[in-house]
Amino acid sequence: METAPTTETIRTAPKVLLHDHLDGGLRPTTVAELAAETGYQGLPAEDPDGLGAWFRAAAGSGSLERYLQTFAHTVGVMQTPDALRRVAAECAEDLAADGVVYAEVRYAPELHTERDLHLAEVVEAVLAGFAEGSARSGGAIRVGCLLTAMRHAARSREIAELAVRYRDSGVVGFDIAGAEAGFPPTRHLDAFEYVRQQNAHFTIHAGEAFGLPSIWEALQWCGADRLGHGVRIVDDIAVPAEGPPEIGRLAAYVRDKRIPLELCPSSNVQTGAAPSIAAHPIGLLAQLRFRVTVNNRLMSGCTMSSELAELVDAFGYGWSDLQRFTINAMKSAFLPFDERLAFIDDVIKPGFAVLVG
Ligand SMILES: [Zn+2]
Repeated sequence: METAPTTETIRTAPKVLLHDHLDGGLRPTTVAELAAETGYQGLPAEDPDGLGAWFRAAAGSGSLERYLQTFAHTVGVMQTPDALRRVAAECAEDLAADGVVYAEVRYAPELHTERDLHLAEVVEAVLAGFAEGSARSGGAIRVGCLLTAMRHAARSREIAELAVRYRDSGVVGFDIAGAEAGFPPTRHLDAFEYVRQQNAHFTIHAGEAFGLPSIWEALQWCGADRLGHGVRIVDDIAVPAEGPPEIGRLAAYVRDKRIPLELCPSSNVQTGAAPSIAAHPIGLLAQLRFRVTVNNRLMSGCTMSSELAELVDAFGYGWSDLQRFTINAMKSAFLPFDERLAFIDDVIKPGFAVLVG
Protein backbone atom coordinates (compact mmCIF):
# COMPACT_ATOMS: atom_id res chain seq x y z
CA MET A 1 0.00 0.00 0.00
CA GLU A 2 1.13 3.51 -0.76
CA THR A 3 2.37 5.43 2.28
CA ALA A 4 1.28 9.05 2.62
CA PRO A 5 3.97 11.48 1.54
CA THR A 6 5.71 13.38 4.34
CA THR A 7 8.07 16.37 4.21
CA GLU A 8 11.02 13.95 4.52
CA THR A 9 9.93 11.59 1.77
CA ILE A 10 8.80 14.45 -0.48
CA ARG A 11 12.32 15.88 -0.18
CA THR A 12 13.58 12.80 -2.06
CA ALA A 13 11.13 13.34 -4.94
CA PRO A 14 12.21 15.40 -7.96
CA LYS A 15 10.44 18.75 -7.80
CA VAL A 16 9.98 21.71 -10.12
CA LEU A 17 9.59 25.32 -9.01
CA LEU A 18 8.40 28.03 -11.39
CA HIS A 19 7.66 30.93 -9.07
CA ASP A 20 10.43 31.89 -6.73
CA HIS A 21 11.88 35.30 -5.86
CA LEU A 22 15.64 35.43 -5.43
CA ASP A 23 15.30 38.11 -2.74
CA GLY A 24 12.72 36.05 -0.85
CA GLY A 25 14.80 33.13 0.33
CA LEU A 26 18.11 34.31 1.78
CA ARG A 27 19.79 32.45 4.61
CA PRO A 28 19.62 34.67 7.74
CA THR A 29 23.38 34.18 8.26
CA THR A 30 23.99 35.51 4.78
CA VAL A 31 21.82 38.58 5.35
CA ALA A 32 23.75 39.35 8.54
CA GLU A 33 27.16 38.80 6.94
CA LEU A 34 26.37 40.75 3.79
CA ALA A 35 25.01 43.66 5.86
CA ALA A 36 28.28 43.75 7.80
CA GLU A 37 30.40 43.47 4.65
CA THR A 38 28.55 46.06 2.63
CA GLY A 39 27.77 48.49 5.44
CA TYR A 40 24.00 48.09 5.13
CA GLN A 41 22.30 49.76 8.08
CA GLY A 42 18.90 49.14 9.55
CA LEU A 43 18.56 45.37 9.98
CA PRO A 44 15.96 44.58 12.67
CA ALA A 45 18.49 42.26 14.39
CA GLU A 46 22.23 41.80 14.05
CA ASP A 47 22.59 38.09 14.82
CA PRO A 48 21.36 35.38 12.42
CA ASP A 49 19.04 33.77 15.00
CA GLY A 50 17.30 37.02 15.83
CA LEU A 51 17.12 37.88 12.17
CA GLY A 52 15.66 34.50 11.23
CA ALA A 53 13.02 34.89 13.94
CA TRP A 54 12.18 38.39 12.71
CA PHE A 55 11.81 37.20 9.11
CA ARG A 56 9.55 34.32 10.16
CA ALA A 57 7.39 36.61 12.28
CA ALA A 58 7.11 39.25 9.54
CA ALA A 59 6.32 36.66 6.87
CA GLY A 60 3.72 34.99 9.07
CA SER A 61 2.12 38.19 10.36
CA GLY A 62 -0.76 38.16 7.86
CA SER A 63 0.16 41.73 6.95
CA LEU A 64 1.31 42.40 3.41
CA GLU A 65 3.10 45.53 4.59
CA ARG A 66 5.21 43.68 7.14
CA TYR A 67 5.79 40.90 4.65
CA LEU A 68 7.15 43.40 2.13
CA GLN A 69 9.52 44.91 4.73
CA THR A 70 11.47 41.66 4.62
CA PHE A 71 12.31 42.35 0.97
CA ALA A 72 13.57 45.85 1.76
CA HIS A 73 16.31 44.28 3.89
CA THR A 74 17.24 41.45 1.56
CA VAL A 75 17.35 43.74 -1.48
CA GLY A 76 19.32 46.19 0.66
CA VAL A 77 22.19 43.73 1.09
CA MET A 78 22.11 42.56 -2.56
CA GLN A 79 23.78 45.58 -4.16
CA THR A 80 27.24 44.31 -5.14
CA PRO A 81 28.29 41.66 -7.67
CA ASP A 82 29.76 39.46 -4.90
CA ALA A 83 26.58 39.66 -2.82
CA LEU A 84 24.35 38.84 -5.80
CA ARG A 85 26.55 35.97 -6.80
CA ARG A 86 26.62 34.53 -3.29
CA VAL A 87 22.85 34.78 -2.83
CA ALA A 88 22.21 33.11 -6.20
CA ALA A 89 24.71 30.31 -5.50
CA GLU A 90 23.15 29.61 -2.11
CA CYS A 91 19.68 29.71 -3.62
CA ALA A 92 20.64 26.95 -6.08
CA GLU A 93 22.28 24.93 -3.29
CA ASP A 94 19.30 25.25 -0.95
CA LEU A 95 16.82 24.29 -3.65
CA ALA A 96 18.94 21.30 -4.70
CA ALA A 97 19.16 20.17 -1.06
CA ASP A 98 15.35 20.22 -1.00
CA GLY A 99 15.21 17.97 -4.06
CA VAL A 100 14.26 20.64 -6.61
CA VAL A 101 15.63 19.53 -9.99
CA TYR A 102 14.55 22.53 -12.05
CA ALA A 103 13.74 26.04 -10.86
CA GLU A 104 12.91 29.34 -12.50
CA VAL A 105 14.03 32.05 -10.11
CA ARG A 106 13.05 35.65 -10.71
CA TYR A 107 14.32 38.99 -9.53
CA ALA A 108 14.11 42.61 -10.61
CA PRO A 109 17.49 43.87 -11.87
CA GLU A 110 16.41 47.48 -11.41
CA LEU A 111 16.21 46.98 -7.62
CA HIS A 112 19.91 46.12 -7.43
CA THR A 113 21.40 49.31 -8.83
CA GLU A 114 21.53 51.42 -5.66
CA ARG A 115 25.33 51.33 -5.80
CA ASP A 116 25.45 52.13 -9.49
CA LEU A 117 25.73 48.62 -10.88
CA HIS A 118 24.64 48.44 -14.49
CA LEU A 119 21.68 46.19 -15.19
CA ALA A 120 23.91 43.85 -17.20
CA GLU A 121 26.34 43.52 -14.28
CA VAL A 122 23.44 42.51 -12.04
CA VAL A 123 22.28 39.86 -14.51
CA GLU A 124 25.78 38.47 -15.04
CA ALA A 125 26.50 38.24 -11.31
CA VAL A 126 23.28 36.31 -10.68
CA LEU A 127 23.87 33.96 -13.62
CA ALA A 128 27.39 33.26 -12.37
CA GLY A 129 25.98 32.53 -8.92
CA PHE A 130 23.45 30.04 -10.23
CA ALA A 131 26.12 28.26 -12.26
CA GLU A 132 28.35 28.10 -9.18
CA GLY A 133 25.60 26.83 -6.87
CA SER A 134 24.45 24.27 -9.39
CA ALA A 135 28.02 23.00 -9.81
CA ARG A 136 28.48 22.82 -6.02
CA SER A 137 25.34 20.66 -5.91
CA GLY A 138 26.87 18.22 -8.34
CA GLY A 139 24.61 19.38 -11.16
CA ALA A 140 21.55 18.07 -9.30
CA ILE A 141 19.64 21.23 -10.20
CA ARG A 142 19.21 23.44 -13.20
CA VAL A 143 18.19 27.04 -12.62
CA GLY A 144 16.73 29.42 -15.19
CA CYS A 145 16.26 33.14 -14.50
CA LEU A 146 13.23 35.28 -15.09
CA LEU A 147 13.89 39.00 -15.22
CA THR A 148 11.17 41.00 -13.52
CA ALA A 149 10.18 44.60 -14.18
CA MET A 150 8.41 46.58 -11.46
CA ARG A 151 4.83 47.52 -12.33
CA HIS A 152 4.98 50.99 -10.80
CA ALA A 153 8.19 51.90 -12.63
CA ALA A 154 8.84 52.69 -16.30
CA ARG A 155 11.70 50.37 -17.16
CA SER A 156 9.80 47.33 -18.40
CA ARG A 157 10.86 47.67 -22.05
CA GLU A 158 14.50 47.94 -20.98
CA ILE A 159 14.20 44.87 -18.74
CA ALA A 160 12.43 42.95 -21.52
CA GLU A 161 15.32 43.74 -23.86
CA LEU A 162 17.75 42.55 -21.21
CA ALA A 163 15.86 39.26 -20.87
CA VAL A 164 16.08 38.68 -24.62
CA ARG A 165 19.75 39.68 -24.74
CA TYR A 166 20.62 37.00 -22.14
CA ARG A 167 18.25 34.32 -23.45
CA ASP A 168 21.09 31.99 -24.47
CA SER A 169 22.95 32.44 -21.18
CA GLY A 170 20.35 31.20 -18.71
CA VAL A 171 17.60 33.85 -18.72
CA VAL A 172 14.47 31.99 -19.77
CA GLY A 173 11.80 34.65 -19.53
CA PHE A 174 10.34 37.96 -18.42
CA ASP A 175 7.83 38.96 -15.72
CA ILE A 176 6.26 41.98 -14.08
CA ALA A 177 5.63 42.27 -10.35
CA GLY A 178 4.56 44.78 -7.73
CA ALA A 179 1.25 46.18 -6.54
CA GLU A 180 -1.56 45.14 -8.89
CA ALA A 181 -4.10 47.77 -7.84
CA GLY A 182 -3.61 50.92 -9.90
CA PHE A 183 -0.91 49.36 -12.08
CA PRO A 184 -2.59 47.18 -14.69
CA PRO A 185 -0.37 45.03 -16.91
CA THR A 186 -1.47 46.98 -20.00
CA ARG A 187 0.77 49.82 -18.76
CA HIS A 188 3.62 47.64 -20.03
CA LEU A 189 2.17 46.55 -23.35
CA ASP A 190 5.18 47.61 -25.37
CA ALA A 191 7.43 45.36 -23.28
CA PHE A 192 5.17 42.36 -23.80
CA GLU A 193 4.83 43.05 -27.51
CA TYR A 194 8.59 43.20 -27.81
CA VAL A 195 9.03 39.88 -25.98
CA ARG A 196 6.41 38.22 -28.18
CA GLN A 197 7.97 39.60 -31.35
CA GLN A 198 11.26 38.07 -30.21
CA ASN A 199 9.54 34.68 -29.77
CA ALA A 200 10.44 34.78 -26.07
CA HIS A 201 8.35 33.89 -23.02
CA PHE A 202 6.80 35.78 -20.15
CA THR A 203 4.61 35.38 -17.13
CA ILE A 204 2.73 38.16 -15.36
CA HIS A 205 1.97 38.50 -11.66
CA ALA A 206 -1.81 38.74 -11.88
CA GLY A 207 -4.77 37.64 -9.82
CA GLU A 208 -2.89 37.41 -6.53
CA ALA A 209 -5.21 39.78 -4.74
CA PHE A 210 -6.73 42.01 -7.40
CA GLY A 211 -8.92 39.56 -9.22
CA LEU A 212 -10.36 38.91 -12.62
CA PRO A 213 -9.70 42.20 -14.48
CA SER A 214 -5.99 41.80 -13.87
CA ILE A 215 -6.00 38.19 -15.11
CA TRP A 216 -8.08 39.13 -18.16
CA GLU A 217 -5.69 41.94 -19.13
CA ALA A 218 -2.63 39.72 -18.58
CA LEU A 219 -4.01 37.09 -20.94
CA GLN A 220 -6.13 38.88 -23.50
CA TRP A 221 -4.26 42.16 -23.87
CA CYS A 222 -0.72 41.20 -22.96
CA GLY A 223 -0.62 37.56 -24.08
CA ALA A 224 1.03 36.08 -20.97
CA ASP A 225 2.21 32.47 -21.26
CA ARG A 226 1.58 31.85 -17.56
CA LEU A 227 -0.07 33.57 -14.60
CA GLY A 228 1.99 34.43 -11.53
CA HIS A 229 -0.48 33.29 -8.85
CA GLY A 230 -3.69 33.64 -10.92
CA VAL A 231 -5.47 32.22 -7.89
CA ARG A 232 -8.35 34.74 -8.10
CA ILE A 233 -9.52 32.96 -11.26
CA VAL A 234 -11.61 31.16 -8.66
CA ASP A 235 -13.81 34.29 -8.56
CA ASP A 236 -15.10 33.20 -11.97
CA ILE A 237 -16.22 29.81 -10.64
CA ALA A 238 -19.48 29.38 -8.73
CA VAL A 239 -19.92 26.36 -6.51
CA PRO A 240 -23.65 25.79 -5.94
CA ALA A 241 -24.88 23.69 -3.02
CA GLU A 242 -25.91 21.03 -5.50
CA GLY A 243 -24.71 20.13 -8.94
CA PRO A 244 -21.38 20.74 -10.64
CA PRO A 245 -19.37 23.99 -10.32
CA GLU A 246 -20.28 26.68 -12.83
CA ILE A 247 -17.22 27.86 -14.70
CA GLY A 248 -17.30 31.37 -16.20
CA ARG A 249 -15.89 32.23 -19.61
CA LEU A 250 -12.53 33.56 -18.44
CA ALA A 251 -11.97 30.58 -16.13
CA ALA A 252 -13.02 28.25 -18.95
CA TYR A 253 -10.50 29.94 -21.26
CA VAL A 254 -7.73 29.49 -18.69
CA ARG A 255 -8.58 25.82 -18.23
CA ASP A 256 -9.18 25.06 -21.91
CA LYS A 257 -5.94 26.70 -23.01
CA ARG A 258 -4.03 24.98 -20.20
CA ILE A 259 -2.72 28.33 -18.93
CA PRO A 260 -0.37 27.45 -16.06
CA LEU A 261 -1.24 28.87 -12.65
CA GLU A 262 1.84 29.50 -10.52
CA LEU A 263 0.07 28.98 -7.21
CA CYS A 264 1.80 29.82 -3.92
CA PRO A 265 -0.55 28.63 -1.15
CA SER A 266 1.56 29.39 1.93
CA SER A 267 2.50 32.79 0.58
CA ASN A 268 -1.21 33.61 0.12
CA VAL A 269 -1.91 32.54 3.70
CA GLN A 270 1.02 34.62 4.96
CA THR A 271 -0.14 37.76 3.16
CA GLY A 272 -3.72 37.24 4.28
CA ALA A 273 -5.02 36.50 0.75
CA ALA A 274 -6.27 33.08 1.90
CA PRO A 275 -7.39 32.13 5.42
CA SER A 276 -5.68 28.72 5.53
CA ILE A 277 -4.16 26.05 3.30
CA ALA A 278 -7.30 23.93 3.66
CA ALA A 279 -9.45 26.86 2.51
CA HIS A 280 -7.09 27.76 -0.35
CA PRO A 281 -8.64 27.61 -3.85
CA ILE A 282 -5.88 25.21 -4.98
CA GLY A 283 -8.14 22.37 -3.80
CA LEU A 284 -10.98 23.36 -6.15
CA LEU A 285 -8.70 24.35 -9.03
CA ALA A 286 -6.81 21.05 -8.88
CA GLN A 287 -10.08 19.12 -8.67
CA LEU A 288 -11.32 20.90 -11.80
CA ARG A 289 -8.02 20.04 -13.49
CA PHE A 290 -6.73 23.52 -14.10
CA ARG A 291 -3.01 23.43 -14.88
CA VAL A 292 -2.02 23.90 -11.25
CA THR A 293 1.61 24.24 -10.25
CA VAL A 294 2.80 24.54 -6.65
CA ASN A 295 5.52 26.95 -5.64
CA ASN A 296 7.29 28.15 -2.56
CA ARG A 297 10.53 29.02 -0.87
CA LEU A 298 10.31 31.81 1.60
CA MET A 299 12.10 33.30 4.52
CA SER A 300 9.38 31.86 6.72
CA GLY A 301 11.17 28.53 6.61
CA CYS A 302 8.88 26.98 3.99
CA THR A 303 10.42 24.75 1.35
CA MET A 304 8.90 23.08 -1.68
CA SER A 305 8.82 19.84 0.34
CA SER A 306 7.06 21.36 3.33
CA GLU A 307 4.63 23.21 1.04
CA LEU A 308 3.65 19.98 -0.72
CA ALA A 309 3.40 18.19 2.64
CA GLU A 310 0.94 20.85 3.83
CA LEU A 311 -1.18 20.19 0.76
CA VAL A 312 -1.07 16.46 1.49
CA ASP A 313 -2.33 17.17 5.02
CA ALA A 314 -5.04 19.58 3.88
CA PHE A 315 -6.37 17.73 0.84
CA GLY A 316 -5.26 14.12 1.26
CA TYR A 317 -3.11 14.18 -1.86
CA GLY A 318 -1.03 11.13 -2.70
CA TRP A 319 2.11 10.66 -4.77
CA SER A 320 0.20 10.61 -8.04
CA ASP A 321 -1.19 14.09 -7.29
CA LEU A 322 2.25 15.42 -6.40
CA GLN A 323 3.63 13.89 -9.58
CA ARG A 324 0.87 15.55 -11.58
CA PHE A 325 1.67 18.98 -10.09
CA THR A 326 5.35 18.40 -10.86
CA ILE A 327 4.73 17.35 -14.44
CA ASN A 328 2.32 20.28 -14.85
CA ALA A 329 5.15 22.57 -13.77
CA MET A 330 7.71 20.98 -16.07
CA LYS A 331 5.32 21.17 -19.03
CA SER A 332 4.89 24.87 -18.24
CA ALA A 333 8.59 25.69 -17.87
CA PHE A 334 10.16 28.20 -20.26
CA LEU A 335 12.60 25.60 -21.58
CA PRO A 336 12.68 24.13 -25.08
CA PHE A 337 10.18 21.30 -25.55
CA ASP A 338 12.76 18.52 -25.92
CA GLU A 339 14.45 19.55 -22.68
CA ARG A 340 11.14 19.58 -20.80
CA LEU A 341 10.37 16.13 -22.16
CA ALA A 342 13.77 14.83 -21.08
CA PHE A 343 13.19 16.12 -17.53
CA ILE A 344 9.77 14.43 -17.42
CA ASP A 345 10.88 11.08 -18.88
CA ASP A 346 14.38 10.78 -17.41
CA VAL A 347 14.10 12.53 -14.04
CA ILE A 348 10.55 13.11 -12.82
CA LYS A 349 8.79 9.87 -13.77
CA PRO A 350 11.62 7.56 -12.59
CA GLY A 351 11.97 9.62 -9.40
CA PHE A 352 8.29 9.27 -8.54
CA ALA A 353 8.11 5.64 -9.68
CA VAL A 354 10.13 4.51 -6.67
CA LEU A 355 7.86 6.46 -4.32
CA VAL A 356 4.43 5.56 -5.67
CA GLY A 357 4.89 2.12 -4.08
ZN1 LIG B 1 5.73 36.43 -6.88
